[in-house]
Amino acid sequence: MPEASPLGLLGGTFDPVHHGHLRLAEEAREALDLAEVRWLPAGRPPHREAPRVSAAHRLEMVRRAVADNPAFTVDDAETRVEAPSYSVTTLERLRAGMGGRPLVLLMGADAFLGLATWHRWRELFSLAHIGVAARPGFELSPEALPAELAGACADRLGADPCVLRAAPAGRVVQFAMTPLAISASLLRARLAAGLSARYLLPDPVREYIDRQQLYRD
Ligand code: ATP
Repeated sequence: MPEASPLGLLGGTFDPVHHGHLRLAEEAREALDLAEVRWLPAGRPPHREAPRVSAAHRLEMVRRAVADNPAFTVDDAETRVEAPSYSVTTLERLRAGMGGRPLVLLMGADAFLGLATWHRWRELFSLAHIGVAARPGFELSPEALPAELAGACADRLGADPCVLRAAPAGRVVQFAMTPLAISASLLRARLAAGLSARYLLPDPVREYIDRQQLYRD
């Protein structure tokens, strides 16, 4: 029986980080009783086109966004390598240093719906639990899941976060979060158009974007 409290892991491109990400991490911490949420900015994400700004800028924005929350930490390992950032590789590295501590890979419903396209995705269940947050515009009912994913999750799905403490990995727990239809794509589009990003992301991030002149067309 694992004794240490579950560690949340939030991977993403964070191009740029915004209040949707921050509320996801904060509400996951509360709903799933996580001791800490570790943020893992991707270096080169494998599932999408190249990020708009460098890994160094995205890492710096995440650092600024989480700086005032003692429960949030940042792991910069993926931003320091040239190879694509695969979650399974990152989880193998983290698992090797953590013994049987429960790990909870956090993601929004959109990311979860695409899980069966991830590199070695079935192995994720042996390395970590998955915590899935509702996200506006993405339906999470069992019928909405792609068949392959629904099959792999059939005996794993639930809403009771207590199961996360009972094993190091293997469960999929959904949780509700304040619906926020904010996305990095929306922010990139606004910034490129010269529109305000205020109140959609933290002020220290907005100031960094302004000072570095990021996302301008
Ligand atoms: P983009 O618009 O460029 O696709 P994004 O806003 O989805 O970016 P990512 O860095 O790709 O941001 O997302 C990291 C994680 O945060 C993913 O698991 C994603 O589902 C989740 N996420 C992002 N925004 C929200 C939101 N508004 N509500 C819930 N989850 C979110």
